[in-house]
Amino acid sequence: MNRTYVSNKVEFNVIGQVNSPYKEKFAIPRQPGLVSSAKGSITLTGDANDPELVRELAQFSHIWVLFVFHGTQEQGWKPLVRPPRLGGNKKIGVLASRSTFRPNPIGMSVVKLDAIDIKDQQVILHISGIDLLDKTPIIDIKPYVPYSDSIPHANAGFAQTQPSSDLKVTFNEHAQIALAKHSNNHPDLALFIEQVLAQDPRPAYKKGKDDDKVYGMNLYDLNIQWKMQGLSSIEVIGITSAVSKL
Ligand code: SAH
Repeated sequence: MNRTYVSNKVEFNVIGQVNSPYKEKFAIPRQPGLVSSAKGSITLTGDANDPELVRELAQFSHIWVLFVFHGTQEQGWKPLVRPPRLGGNKKIGVLASRSTFRPNPIGMSVVKLDAIDIKDQQVILHISGIDLLDKTPIIDIKPYVPYSDSIPHANAGFAQTQPSSDLKVTFNEHAQIALAKHSNNHPDLALFIEQVLAQDPRPAYKKGKDDDKVYGMNLYDLNIQWKMQGLSSIEVIGITSAVSKL
């Protein structure tokens, strides 16, 4: 049974909302920075939408973003989880993981701060390298401070190194025509798709096995269709308008 908490509540105010090309959980990288071309923004909201809150923030190249896992929050949490890094079989304590199903559904990501835009009293932070679902509620933003936040020789157990992302990604003729068609709106689309697919978004148990399934993933307003070619290549076979799931 999944657990929830009913007492000892602490309340936070949402200070902003994410605008992300990732419209669904499938294919979002498992940590920030793995897909550097994933660009999005944070729109500050309510009382936090005030240029004073971000005064001098632009001198930092990276920020910590604290957010709510709103997409999975309702599913509650369990004390043990199965991290994809361990093949999805071994159970470990939720607090030894970066699972979204935590006692408090709080996520934290270091992202690149590309620019801060203030227009008509609206503060927008442009960020990249994100692993955030569209419309993610933000509860805090802090500067990333390398001298304290980076510990290069720290032990990270089963997650010591970045997962390998050596899948080769190709685009068939249909996909290439579609890329050209969308290049005005999305100039870096090919690179973005390549980086996302190189991470192998399939469930862990599919890795290293024959797979003839056609997969679909939504990025921006587009649906990208792709399939495996052998064990180490992915072919993108179609890029069409995403059908709204609402
Ligand atoms: N860097 C964060 C998140 C790690 S889990 C942390 O360590 O806390 C990464 C996964 O979070 C992604 O694969 C994505 O599927 C999921 N995710 C991102 N935003 C989410 C949201 N708003 N709700 C639910 N899941 C989300």
